[in-house]
Amino acid sequence: MIIQLKSDINANQKEALIAEVQQAGYKITEVKTQLGDYLIGIGKKDFDIRKIGQKEGIQDIHIVSDEYKLVSKKWKVAPTTIDLGDGVCIKDGDMAVIAGPCSIESEEQIRKVINHLKENNIKMMRGGVFKPRSSPYAFRGLGLDGLKLWYELAQEAGIKIVTEVMQVSQIEEMYPYVDIYQVGARNTQNFNLLDELGKVDKAVMIKRGISGTIEELLQSAEYVFSGGNEKLILCERGIRTYERASRNTLDLNAVPILKAKSHLPVIVDPSHGIGLREYVTQMALAGVMAGADGIIYETHEIPEKAYSDGQQTLDFTQSGMLADWIRRTFEMRKSFDLV
Ligand code: PEP
Ligand code: MN
Repeated sequence: MIIQLKSDINANQKEALIAEVQQAGYKITEVKTQLGDYLIGIGKKDFDIRKIGQKEGIQDIHIVSDEYKLVSKKWKVAPTTIDLGDGVCIKDGDMAVIAGPCSIESEEQIRKVINHLKENNIKMMRGGVFKPRSSPYAFRGLGLDGLKLWYELAQEAGIKIVTEVMQVSQIEEMYPYVDIYQVGARNTQNFNLLDELGKVDKAVMIKRGISGTIEELLQSAEYVFSGGNEKLILCERGIRTYERASRNTLDLNAVPILKAKSHLPVIVDPSHGIGLREYVTQMALAGVMAGADGIIYETHEIPEKAYSDGQQTLDFTQSGMLADWIRRTFEMRKSFDLV
């Protein structure tokens, strides 16, 4: 059960309400986000909400049977819009394009990518400064100094920054320079990290865990929301299956399912999803058709020379074509009557 509270509810009213629902057999968690105050009730299934629906201080009350509550579409039918300012949004009914290198490597590289994005009217740039690498000997990113440099150049160009946060201690130091914190696939169930991102007033994009189910992804988002941050984006980036012909198996089934279950925007990452440059374009367009609200992919001037993930990175010519095709495919999708 989700009880949406009015902003002017007073302490006595709230206390009495909590006591009453606890009495009825619910365990109550209070949630306060940028946008609202909620009581989450876990427990009884047969409670007649009309009993408390008219009480002072209650805005609305909903029965949500899903394991996750606040990210469920069962109570919030209107899709969530992520507004990054300057007219840059990620939302249902729109197509966000986020492109950039796997890793931020140098000032020269950042400049080249930014020029490429500007030429193609791409407003959001991805790139890692803290890199989760399978080998400790691989390039692990330029760190905070790299982020600061990137921020200066991106600001000048009016481009938003999407970058991975790997641990709690990085959240605060990254804060001034980040538009979207990315939670990587290896951290999807790092609940301490998710809890702390709940305290931040900036958007968070959560990637699906390497072996994570759709429900687990939604539960991870629930952590951040219930921690106080409603600015959430879900990302399908491929899961590990028995298949070895591709790096991961991009689970495009997840896209319409997530869209049906949750009010949060859904982004597809075809680069990590298939892991092979020659097929990234097809899978990106398939993601658009599957109902994604945006595509995030890797691009680099010379992919063969990229410090990480070059094998799945598009060069600027391929990237420019893909950005155009994503938009055209999206126009086509809109002309179909898909749910
Ligand atoms: C990345 O976006 O570069 C990345 C490491 O992604 P993932 O966490 O999906 O592997
Ligand atoms: Mn990568």
